[in-house]
Amino acid sequence: MTNLAEHQPDCPFCAIASGALGCHKVYADASVTAFMDKNPINPYHLLVIPNVHVADFYELDDATYVAVMRVVKKMAAIVKSLAAPQKVGLVVAGFDVPHAHIHVIPMHDYHDITSRHYIEGTLVRPDDAELARNAAEIKSALGMS
Ligand SMILES: [Zn+2]
Repeated sequence: MTNLAEHQPDCPFCAIASGALGCHKVYADASVTAFMDKNPINPYHLLVIPNVHVADFYELDDATYVAVMRVVKKMAAIVKSLAAPQKVGLVVAGFDVPHAHIHVIPMHDYHDITSRHYIEGTLVRPDDAELARNAAEIKSALGMS
């Protein structure tokens, strides 16, 4: 139900929102999509995006911003229950993909959010099966399985 006219060609997150690019999606509605980060800091690290292409979250219209943050809140509670971290952290940076996205990150340690491996891009990538398993658990917790 996304407005394809608002999508940017060559934007991977627009492609995910429209369904043109596959991912381990855990949630989608008319204005928001959530999916597993392919390069997570910890298992269950996921991304929440507006379906519309807007580079920075503070440029979103208020209704879309609220819709995104409602999904972030719901996802954070599920991540807390599944990953049992000390805290669930949120990061908004956007150096990698110029389409607003909120990282929802289970933090077992204070330094998880400033992980040197993450910044240097040297994290161990989970395989596709692990991402699929984690996505299925989140969908199950949402009652979407
Ligand atoms: Zn985009």
